[in-house]
Amino acid sequence: TKVGIDAGGTLTKIAYQTNGSIRYQSVPSADMEYTVEWLSSQLDNPDVCVTGGKSELLTKKWQAPAKTMVEFDATTKGIEFLANHQDQALVEPFLFVNVGTGTSIHVVNDGKQERTGGSGIGGGTLMGLAQLTTGIHDYKQIVQLAGNGNRGNVDLKVKDIFEGTLSPISGDLTASNFGKTEKMAAYAPENADILASITGMIGEVIVSITIPTAMQYNVDQMVYIGSSFRMNRLLRETVSKYTIMLEKTPIFLEKGEYSGAVGAMLSI
Ligand code: ADP
Repeated sequence: TKVGIDAGGTLTKIAYQTNGSIRYQSVPSADMEYTVEWLSSQLDNPDVCVTGGKSELLTKKWQAPAKTMVEFDATTKGIEFLANHQDQALVEPFLFVNVGTGTSIHVVNDGKQERTGGSGIGGGTLMGLAQLTTGIHDYKQIVQLAGNGNRGNVDLKVKDIFEGTLSPISGDLTASNFGKTEKMAAYAPENADILASITGMIGEVIVSITIPTAMQYNVDQMVYIGSSFRMNRLLRETVSKYTIMLEKTPIFLEKGEYSGAVGAMLSI
């Protein structure tokens, strides 16, 4: 069995081929022992290629031979494969934005990627700020609550400032993330509202830092990947809305968070 593994800061993503179809599995990176156990117990004669920041940690525990690969190249290969299989035409140059624990931005041209930037604002920021502000640690609980929250109880919109007068920009834009301090002093926001605002801020920052790169490289398509979009409709919607507003085309690939693992698998 061909197995591609992307051992990231938070999650280890595994893609493997059985009977012609690809299967996907992810496990916490904190538990490498489990990953290695899973590999040996679930898969027959695995032929392994590892990528990602924690590759070395994994290959050390995995006693059998394993190939390694540069993560960014694996991700590019995986994105092209997934897009192709989902009938999603990608036109070069395009950008991919990997929202993992942190965020990494890349431009792809002639099948080659170049990293153009990144940010510490990513999925880890959601987990950390959620923990600090609400005490909630569970990812599923965080995204579910965020999906039901009301950002209007926390964030200040342009129209909140320009009460009644015509504003020079859309009143619906966020004027100040977490800026509705007067209202918050009067009514403490619910955990759901706080989590929605954290999610919204992360989405807005990601698009804001990516757009200048899209302009610089004359790119139209922005491919958003990473486990941070998993089950997280609010993040996807925020990123999508802001990307469209800035006249670019957002693309979300199914299983996009497995791009690195798929690329590693394909290189065996
Ligand atoms: P990395 O490669 O850095 O591990 P990922 O693309 O796997 O990054 O994304 C990690 C992020 O995905 C987390 O910070 C969190 O926001 C989100 N996430 C999705 N599913 C889970 C989960 N089951 N447990 C923890 N975080 C998750």
